[in-house]
Amino acid sequence: MSSQHPRGGPLVDGPADPEHDPAASYGLDPGYVRRLTDRIVATSGETAATSSPLSGQPLAHVPQSTDGDVGEAFSRARRAQQEWTRRSLDERAAILLRLHDLVLHRQDEIIDLICWESGKARKHAFDEPLHIALTARYYARTAHDHLDTRRRLGVVPGLTRVEVNQVPKGVVGIISPWNYPFTMALCDGLPALLAGNAVVTKPDAQTMLSALLGAELLEEAGFPRDLWQVVAGPGSRVGTSIVQRADYVCFTGSTATGRLIATQCAERLVGCSLELGGKNPMLVLRDADVERAAEGAVRASFSNAGQLCVSMERLFVADQVYDRFVERFVSRTEAMTLGATLDWGTDMGSLISQAQLDTVTAHVEDAVARGARVLTGGRPRPDLGPYFYEPTILEGVSPQMACFGDETFGPVIALYRFHDEADAVARANDGDYGLNAAIYSQDGARAREIARHVRCGTVNVNEAFGATFASIDSPMGGMRQSGMGRRQGSEGILRYTESQTVATQRLIRFAPMYGMSDQTYAKVMNAQVRMMRKLGRP
Ligand code: NAD
Repeated sequence: MSSQHPRGGPLVDGPADPEHDPAASYGLDPGYVRRLTDRIVATSGETAATSSPLSGQPLAHVPQSTDGDVGEAFSRARRAQQEWTRRSLDERAAILLRLHDLVLHRQDEIIDLICWESGKARKHAFDEPLHIALTARYYARTAHDHLDTRRRLGVVPGLTRVEVNQVPKGVVGIISPWNYPFTMALCDGLPALLAGNAVVTKPDAQTMLSALLGAELLEEAGFPRDLWQVVAGPGSRVGTSIVQRADYVCFTGSTATGRLIATQCAERLVGCSLELGGKNPMLVLRDADVERAAEGAVRASFSNAGQLCVSMERLFVADQVYDRFVERFVSRTEAMTLGATLDWGTDMGSLISQAQLDTVTAHVEDAVARGARVLTGGRPRPDLGPYFYEPTILEGVSPQMACFGDETFGPVIALYRFHDEADAVARANDGDYGLNAAIYSQDGARAREIARHVRCGTVNVNEAFGATFASIDSPMGGMRQSGMGRRQGSEGILRYTESQTVATQRLIRFAPMYGMSDQTYAKVMNAQVRMMRKLGRP
């Protein structure tokens, strides 16, 4: 595995005094960083330092919001939402299409910033602006399909006219994680805005700059500035302030935090959607194309160094192809290049933090101590950067090992052999999670039939996760402890609306008329109900 060294990207702005501004010591223009952090609603004067996983050096001082600041962000958002919801749907959709163009136009800058903040390989950062462009285009082009007022059946045909409106909830709170810092901060907010809501968002503390660049691009595309408020600070404090005020909460992060947020939303009787963790299984069936499966397994396991909610941590391989598959998978993994760089050309970057490195190291050491075998990898790589860890393939993982059922959220995959497909599906369904799965087989129909029995919200056939995740027309989310609700598709936008029924009654009323007694009225109504049944009406 080869290594490269970090270089300055387009944001570098000559020498500055690192004593006074940490960003200057690592190549981010301090003026650029300040322009982004100025968007945070924060009056406390407190800041939190962030550093780049590429080298561990300081990156920014991020102003911290108080509970009062979160209140101010909600007030501004509520005022902006009143005006925004009166704009036509076509006007809102046109701004989304401008965002699509802007994100593609500025993608180099976006990708550089993602790499600085997250330490991921450029090819993995590339997926983020791409996902935002896909999401913006999809919702802009399908806005009327989801949001137009629809006619429904009235109780008395011809005399009861019923329409259902999709009314915005108001101000949506979005709490997002660090692993895909640009797309996770933005993608759930785009349908919320299109549906006529405002947003108050709290991105993860480690990756505020990427999220703030997203906020800047929203304004440049034409969304009113106050419609999208950004606050910063620890989740337990600022996240809670959001959950206490929002009309709906969209959360992406760990199952533990998701459970807390669901409880708080339940107390306020506001809705929430939760996109949580996973322990995702991949199945390589006996009729799989082994080379294709091995290539897919590398992406499935090591994209963004495994810090991806939909990446695989359990690989079940049929007896008939096990040896050939393992040889190809190990060989492809050993050919991967690792490096701390903004350049294209590396296959995997850094983990984001010491905490991530500690978890990955602990899971592998625990597995090895209890008898698992390391087929490749299994070591930190401090020579490349402070939080690098090699892509690691384990065999012989058993239930008493932490990495058997707990999410590692790192570049570690456990291989399991199976004889019987029903048994493989049962093992894949084992545990608490149910986010994403992949099935490799040359018989698509058979794989799709097996998919129906896998208890995951998305199942990819002959692909790792991209086929479902990038198909924005389809819902994405988790079953069981992996989440509640769905992002993307109709589900991903209707969650931000209330269904409002408006029924207009003509000529008759639902009470005795023309001097009729209550008893006669009851007979007439019964006769009408029976007639409707005979006519086949729903
Ligand atoms: P986390 O739950 O610790 O943090 C996620 C976000 O929640 C952060 O912004 C954090 O500041 C905030 N937060 C933390 N405590 C909070 C609280 N008490 N109240 C309100 N907000 C709070 O998660 P993490 O460990 O940083 O992120 C990784 C996890 O996210 C993994 O489990 C991963 O599987 C999951 N994830 C899921 C998806 C998905 O779409 N299903 C996508 C990305 C990440």
